[in-house]
Formats: sequence, structure tokens, C-alpha cells
Amino acid sequence: MQNHTNTLTKNNLTIRDLLRLAKKNNLDVDLIQLAYEFAEKAHKNQKRKSGEPYIVHPLAVAYLLVELGLDSETVAAGLLHDVPEDTPTTLHEIKKEFGKEIAFLVKGITKLGLVKYRGVDRYVENLRHMFIAMAEDVRVVLMKFADRIHNLQTLQALPPEKRRRIALESIEIYAPIANRLGMGEIRGQLEDLSFPYLYPEEYAWLMKKFGPHLKEKEELIQQLIAFLQKEFKKHHIPIVAIHGRTKHLYSLYQKLLCYNRDITKIYDLVALRLIVKDVSTCYESLGIIHEFCKPLKGRIKDYISQPKPNGYRSLHTTVFMPPQFAKDEVHGEIVEIQIRTKEMHNDAEFGIAAHWKYKEEDHKEVIADHRLDWMRQIVEIQKEVQDDQLLETLKIDVFQNYIFVFTPLGDVIELPEDATPVDFAYQIHTDLGDKCCGVKINDQIGSLNSKLKSGDVVEIFTAPKKQGPSESWLEFVKTNTARAHIRNYINKKNRSFLIVG
Ligand code: MN
Repeated sequence: MQNHTNTLTKNNLTIRDLLRLAKKNNLDVDLIQLAYEFAEKAHKNQKRKSGEPYIVHPLAVAYLLVELGLDSETVAAGLLHDVPEDTPTTLHEIKKEFGKEIAFLVKGITKLGLVKYRGVDRYVENLRHMFIAMAEDVRVVLMKFADRIHNLQTLQALPPEKRRRIALESIEIYAPIANRLGMGEIRGQLEDLSFPYLYPEEYAWLMKKFGPHLKEKEELIQQLIAFLQKEFKKHHIPIVAIHGRTKHLYSLYQKLLCYNRDITKIYDLVALRLIVKDVSTCYESLGIIHEFCKPLKGRIKDYISQPKPNGYRSLHTTVFMPPQFAKDEVHGEIVEIQIRTKEMHNDAEFGIAAHWKYKEEDHKEVIADHRLDWMRQIVEIQKEVQDDQLLETLKIDVFQNYIFVFTPLGDVIELPEDATPVDFAYQIHTDLGDKCCGVKINDQIGSLNSKLKSGDVVEIFTAPKKQGPSESWLEFVKTNTARAHIRNYINKKNRSFLIVG
């Protein structure tokens, strides 16, 4: 399989490579060089399990952080991230040399690393630390992703049981979090790097069966690219970039499991990705493509006007390629085309991290990103949850599938599968939840316990004098937010009851 990321997997990096890239990104080269020298001295004579000098690892992590578009402080912290844990040099010395911010970041990732997997209890503790760290400064978790990706790239050096454990944790915990932060490329990397270690037989099966199929499809896409380039030129629409994009292996595998392992049902095995200069050109391009390529019904998706809750924006269309590309007279070739601007593209690949590229001077704005809302909710929730329930709670709020429903004004609300109108109401506002008494779903009267589906338009009715939520709602609500508010209300009522009584 070709490496379709063309980044993130460079071998034999040197400090010169890092500084060159840092300079290109307008980072503080002096600071980064200082951090490198400090780390190299601290790790002197240490080797990784692979036998390489230890400094190779922090260097790779720092490089990835620059590629992600992060700031100079995070890159410096990336170089220093294993110093307090693995060397005699202390965090205090780092603080003296590099100041509070960098020391804070290093401390954040050190804390995450301290809790090693030793059974479920420690694991949960690890998660708890991670969410608290994320809420304090999301850069800590981005560093953790970079650290994990390089560890996965060099996983071969570890004993098999450890490999499996790290791969499992990456797929089950880190990848979903990356996804929730809108970091599609990081999620794909975490999953694809873990896949062969976690499911070696399935991986081998996939490679053997679909390698040749993939190659055929890639060639076809190249021809289609040449064809579209000509047509766009005729229409005087400049293309910023156009390329085929092979689906990430693990997500292909997941999809195949839903389709009885029938690869002919997967239309985005290789998707065509078209990048143009602005939003109106995106729509114009869609029109041109549909002139030549007949779209499949129900497969045109406008994530520009209705972005996914994790921030993803693009136009998607699945089309029949022009007749000259067809295998024979009966079987047309089908391909998914994704159209987006450069900014949407960076956003889709690197999510929350991409924001540093645009808003370098104002970190607060990044922290205010709505993509972090769910995380703050979790931090609130986890304070009240016992360790033995935390994993279940997280499974509900982070790791399960989501549906998107709409308010009557067209705002998108994200809810877990099987969520009800009560969950919807509480997601919008506590008051709306407390006072809700009825619902219209797609203009039809519904009941408060009905299960919502993606795309539903939901209108909540309230009764101003209503006595508040009913205890029976606890039997059907799906979100922790709704559950917590209902319990809270009932507890308060019971308390005031006692006082009056
Ligand atoms: Mn590390």
C-alpha cells in the first residue's frame, strides 16, 4: 500500500530537517534549537528499544507537531516531553530554562505518561488525566497524539503483548478522541498504524484481497483527473489541487464488515479530492462535474452549508464516471468526489490543530472552538462519576455513534444514537429541558421518548408553569447531560420537600 499521507512517516530525521521546516512555518528557530540541545544532553547515552539514540524519538514528535501547524512552545515541549520522566533532569530545571508555558506543557504530557496500563483501574485513571489535561490546554493532547504516532511507527521493537496493548488503546481511545477533535488524518494514522498489530490476520486478508483492486482503481482515478483538468480549463476554473485519495485501511476494513466484505459496494475506496479557491467555486465545480458524471441518487452531501459537528466541511458527490471509463456497456465505474477549499482541507486533516495556522497570536480563540464543548462536558461529568462507571460514561459520550438533528432554525445538534427529544432539549438549554412538555418531529406531533434519527427537525414545546422534569424520563434519556440535570432537579426538589415537611 502506498503511503498516501506523504508526511508523518519520515525516517532518519535530523535537527536540521526540523529547523528547516520550523523556519518555513515562521516558528522561533532559536527556541527550538535550544530545546533540542537541552533534550539531547539530558537523553545522552540513552537508547530506544530499537537501539537508536533516544533523541530520535522527541525529534520525530517535534517534527510531527510542526507539520500539524502547532506553535513554537508546543514544538519545544515536544522535544522535551520525555526529559522529566526518563532522565535525571527535572521539570524545575526545564521551567528555569524555558519558562512557565513550556514547563506546563511538558508537565501535562508527563502526567499522562505516568499512568501506565496495569488493569482497568489504572486505565480509567489515565483517561481521567487525559480529559482534564485536554480541558486545561488541548495542545497537551495533540502532543500525546504525536508521541503515540511515533511510538506506533516503531512498535516492532516492543514485545508482542505490549504491542497489542498499545495498538488496542490507540484504536479504542486515541483515535475516537482525534475524530471528535476533527483530526481526520491523525485518526487515520493512529488506526492504520495499530491495525496490523491488533488484527494481524484480518490485515493480511485485506492486503492480499484488495491490493490489486486498489491499484486498478487508482489508475482509473488518474485518468479521470486528466479528464477533469481539461474540462475545468475549458470552463476557466483554476484548480488549486486535485488528487486521488486512498481510503484509510482500517476505516475501509470497518466499512467492509458492514457490507459482507464485498468491496464492489465501497464507492470511496479511492476518492477523488478537488481543492479550489473559494466556496462559490466549490459549488460551481460540483455543477461542472455533474455535467459529465451522472450523480447517484441521495449521495450528494453538502457539508459546507451543514458542516458535521466535528467541524468537517466539503461537498461530496458519488458519480458514475463518463461512459468511456466504464468496464463494459453494463457496468459503469462509480467514484466519490470531494470538493473543498484549502482551508477546509487543512481543517479536515488536522482539525483543531489547523487553527494555529490561522490564529497563531490568539490561543484563546482556539480554546473557544466549539469542537471542545463536548470535552468540557466530559470534564464536568467525570467529576461526579465513580471510577467504575467512568469508562461506561465515556463510551456513551465519546465513543458511540452520533446522529445530527436540526432545530427549527436549522442549527445542527449532535446527539448519541437513539437519543430522544428530552436529550435534544437538554442539549440546547437546561431550562428547555426542565420545561419541555411536548415535541414536533418533522412537523408531526411525537412523544418525548421517541428515538430521533439523523436529519430530523425537532421542535420542543414548553409549559411555563410546568413542575419540571419527570423522574420517569430517566428510563429513556441517552445523554449524561440530560440524566445529570434531571437527577439534579429531583434531588433539589426532594431536599426542599424535606425542609418544608
Ligand atoms: Mn515519548
